[in-house]
Amino acid sequence: MNDDVVERVRRAIYDTFARQGHAPSSEQIRNLAAADDTQLTVAVTELAAQRHLVLDEPGDVVMAHPFTAVPLGFSLMGERTLWWGGCAWDSFAIPHLVPGEPSVLVATTCPACRRALAWTVTRSAPPSGPEVAHFLVPMPRAWDDVVYTCSNQRLFCSRDCVQAWLARTCQTQGYVMDLAALWRLASGWYSGRLDSPYQRRDPQSAAEYFRSVGLRGPFWGLNA
Ligand SMILES: [Zn+2]
Ligand SMILES: [Zn+2]
Repeated sequence: MNDDVVERVRRAIYDTFARQGHAPSSEQIRNLAAADDTQLTVAVTELAAQRHLVLDEPGDVVMAHPFTAVPLGFSLMGERTLWWGGCAWDSFAIPHLVPGEPSVLVATTCPACRRALAWTVTRSAPPSGPEVAHFLVPMPRAWDDVVYTCSNQRLFCSRDCVQAWLARTCQTQGYVMDLAALWRLASGWYSGRLDSPYQRRDPQSAAEYFRSVGLRGPFWGLNA
């Protein structure tokens, strides 16, 4: 299969998510990518194998990171666009990635106490606040079940709320970070994803990126 078709299908999906906040229909993808039915099926399967897309059982797009077609606990409001936010990481990434939407209201509820939480996230500086992000699944296992992984990358009122939620759900702590660390992680992670051609980060460049934003340790697949 022609790589150009695969890239056109990828861009049709990503560009629609970026501009309209939702996934395009199959017909829209075929039109935007100038692809026929067979090409579309092959391209979408290929993109899922390369982890550009996450599909459900019928083969519909569930996620095109940082975008999601399903609610995972976050909503985002830009100047003109509404999105489901994916996880905490993806939600904080969208204002960095989408042209013309450099300031986005990110809203969620604390998984522990259900308090409503919201921040205006921009490209210029991290939002201030005492809240923390908790990521449950270590990065080396993130793609075992990526929807589960994203569902469990949440924002909490405080470290106390993280501990209360872990105790209630009988889970072990993953990684806790403040809003500034989450913002740094999100700021450049997806850069280039709305351009062609786009190369996903290989494990080595992912590790370098995590180190460059101050993350350390085996949770991130790093030795130190
Ligand atoms: Zn709370
Ligand atoms: Zn995510």
